[in-house]
Amino acid sequence: MPSGDDLNTYHRLLGDLFDRADRVVAFTGAGISTESGIPDFRSPGGLWTKRRIIDYDEFIASPQARLEDWQRRFEMEDQLGAVAPNVGHYALANLVEAGKITHVVTQNVDALHQRSGIPDDKVIELHGNSTYAKCLTCGLVHTIAAIRAEIERKPEAPACVSCGGIVKSAVISFGEQMPQEAMLRAQRAALGADLFLAIGSSLVVYPAAGIPLMAKQNGAELLILNRDPTELDSYADYVVNRSIGEVLSPFAKPENRQN
Ligand code: ZN
Repeated sequence: MPSGDDLNTYHRLLGDLFDRADRVVAFTGAGISTESGIPDFRSPGGLWTKRRIIDYDEFIASPQARLEDWQRRFEMEDQLGAVAPNVGHYALANLVEAGKITHVVTQNVDALHQRSGIPDDKVIELHGNSTYAKCLTCGLVHTIAAIRAEIERKPEAPACVSCGGIVKSAVISFGEQMPQEAMLRAQRAALGADLFLAIGSSLVVYPAAGIPLMAKQNGAELLILNRDPTELDSYADYVVNRSIGEVLSPFAKPENRQN
């Protein structure tokens, strides 16, 4: 582990780890997206700590709660404005393209990994995806824009255009079951890894936080890259407490690098 705080030391460390690894899995949390200007809603003072939580059961039971949930989403969308992938996302995309990273497992719901160019089948979303909605009855996908237009026309919880069922954003709500298939795929990826990168996650939300440990216990090297210390630092082979973008920048294509 480098003792100094010299950024070049970290660049060399990552370069060496990538050289000797064959199957790298990246696991990402809110920290990679805060560098794109998306706030960490779970952090103290974040949106989730200020507002009453609408959990899954309430969403299903109450049309009023559904409308409120949608209106909050649109308000948040307006506050955020346009967001785009940053150098950290692009570095991971480049490593996927090079065949080094096999999968990106993410706790984020912003779809910025896909927008940075990673194919859908290489991104495993543990907490869902906020960029589209689904009918809970027939599974039909609805665009967020269509739902927004409908609610602006008539302020009521929208129903599925095909079957009349409840339409919900594809994010996993509080109180909703974790997506089993995504969890299984993430576990399989972790077990196949020889290098596991935990990036921008405080590693406190289970069962997601168990995935890096599973990789480590199965013999992978574990590197934690996060602004602040995490719950799992003592298990890691390497801990890097720096900005994600500056550490990963050399691994992005030149046009996406940070100056
Ligand atoms: Zn439907």
